[in-house]
Amino acid sequence: SAKKAGRGRILAFHHGLEDEINERRFIEQELRHALADGVLSVFYQPIVAGDGLRMVGAEALVRWKHPVRGNIPPSVFVAVAEQAGLMIELGEFVLRRALADARDWPELFIAINLSPIQVRDRGLVRTVAGALGDSGIEPSRVVLEITEGVLIDNPEEAKQRLKELRGLGVKIALDDFGSGYSSLSYLRRLPIDKLKIDKEFVSPLGRSANGGVILQAIVALGRALGLSVLAEGVETEEQRLLLRLAGCDEMQGYLFARPMPASAFLDVTRRGIVLAGPPAADDGEDF
Ligand code: C2E
Ligand code: MG
Ligand code: MG
Ligand code: MG
Repeated sequence: SAKKAGRGRILAFHHGLEDEINERRFIEQELRHALADGVLSVFYQPIVAGDGLRMVGAEALVRWKHPVRGNIPPSVFVAVAEQAGLMIELGEFVLRRALADARDWPELFIAINLSPIQVRDRGLVRTVAGALGDSGIEPSRVVLEITEGVLIDNPEEAKQRLKELRGLGVKIALDDFGSGYSSLSYLRRLPIDKLKIDKEFVSPLGRSANGGVILQAIVALGRALGLSVLAEGVETEEQRLLLRLAGCDEMQGYLFARPMPASAFLDVTRRGIVLAGPPAADDGEDF
């Protein structure tokens, strides 16, 4: 009967929910251990100039290889860290590791993601200042990537904090622009230096005619506001050419290179890289 089927559905829903809660608890416990044991790592993905030929920087991306589960994606465990009160610790780990590693490639900038939880934290400016001082990295080489999520709770406080960070000499990038609910008004409301256009806007390039028109408009708008514009998720040669025509300042994506461990990244910088080419085969290092 319909009633029976309905009950079954509810039961299934409860099971699913329970599994989800157990899974979250498991990840949270394991993440506490991973942080304490220092087993997380940071990978680096090259960022190239608008011509797509010269490397100008790298984005730091946290990685976790669980002994039993294997690679757990940051989209999963960063969210758990945020909910479990572990994000400040996780964020400071990435910040310090990335700044330390970046000493080995002094000619490049280093971009580091900040969770909205970190931006809300009153201690952030002191933490960043301390990590900059300890690493000896020139602040102008550092880009902190934020998302529109920083505006949710207390937009005035967030703006103030970003201004203080800029006061240290670092740059601020608005990440994932165009995804989710981001609106053009954020571009005026936030003190930022750089716009990272989400891959959602890059992937239709070459597949549909108006995909290119929207992207061109975003690039033009960003530049008119005095922002440097970077396109994320560049996977094809056709996309690279269209982005170059649109006047994009920088690009990042599998077409050039996947995220890789610091040692491999250092090799790439030393070889004086020819990045443009077919996407690297997945060697199992990244996921
Ligand atoms: P994000 O900051 O937008 O980072 C870019 C993501 O796109 C990375 O995924 C990168 O591996 C992936 N990517 C790069 N090029 C391409 C491409 O050509 N095609 C496709 N399909 N993907 C590409 P990843 O490393 O899995 O990170 C996912 C998200 O997790 C990040 O998005 C960021 O929001 C978050 N995250 C990663 N590391 C950190 C961290 O240290 N701190 C914080 N707060 N968040 C982090
Ligand atoms: Mg990012
Ligand atoms: Mg992004
Ligand atoms: Mg993204």
